[in-house]
Amino acid sequence: MRQEHICCALYPGSFNPIHYGHIDIARRALRLFDSVVLAVYVHPGKADLFTADERMALIRTAFGDEPRIQVASYNQLTVDYAREVGAQAIVRGLRVFSDFELEFRMALTNRRLAPDIEIVNFIAAEEHLHISSSTIREVASLGGDVCYMTPPHVIEALRQKFNDLKARGATSSFVMSIKD
Ligand code: ADP
Repeated sequence: MRQEHICCALYPGSFNPIHYGHIDIARRALRLFDSVVLAVYVHPGKADLFTADERMALIRTAFGDEPRIQVASYNQLTVDYAREVGAQAIVRGLRVFSDFELEFRMALTNRRLAPDIEIVNFIAAEEHLHISSSTIREVASLGGDVCYMTPPHVIEALRQKFNDLKARGATSSFVMSIKD
C-alpha cells in the first residue's frame, strides 16, 4: 500500500549545462519518487562556464511546467542538503564502468555520513551513454553541432555564452579551464 508521506529524491550534479542524459535520469526518478529536486552543486572558487543561476534557469526550461521537479543550488555536503530539502534518497546516473567506481565510493561515503538516506543509481539510456557536459562545452566552443546531446534552449545559451566570451577575447583561456 502506498505510504501517505511524500517521497522526495535529491538529484545533485554540476549540470553545466543540463543535457538529455540528465533529463532522462530525472524522468526515470520521477517514476519512483513523488518529487525530484535537481540541485546544482556550486564548487567554491571554481570558474564555471554557466553561473549557478544560469544553470538553474536552463534546468527549469528543460522540464517546463512539470510540477514534481524542483530546481535549486547548494554548496554544502550533499547529504546535509538532502536532509534540508527532506529527501529520502539521492539519485545519480551511471553511464560507463568508469562512472561506477566513483559513484560507488561516493555512495559508500554518503551512506557513512547519512545511513538514513538511500543512494539510488539509474542506468543511462544507451543513446545517452556518451553524453557529458564537458563534451558539450568543448564541441560547442569549437562551433560543432550538439543538437543530439542537449535541448535547443541550451544550444542557444551556449551560442550566446561563447559569442560573449569571444567578444571579450576570453574564449581560448576559458575553454581550457572549463573541463570537469
Ligand atoms: P556531467 O558534467 O558529467 O554531465 P554532472 O556532474 O552534472 O555530469 O552529473 C550529474 C549526474 O548525472 C551524475 O550522476 C552523472 O553520472 C549523471 N549523468 C551525467 N551524464 C549522464 C548521461 N549521459 N546519462 C545518464 N546520467 C548522466
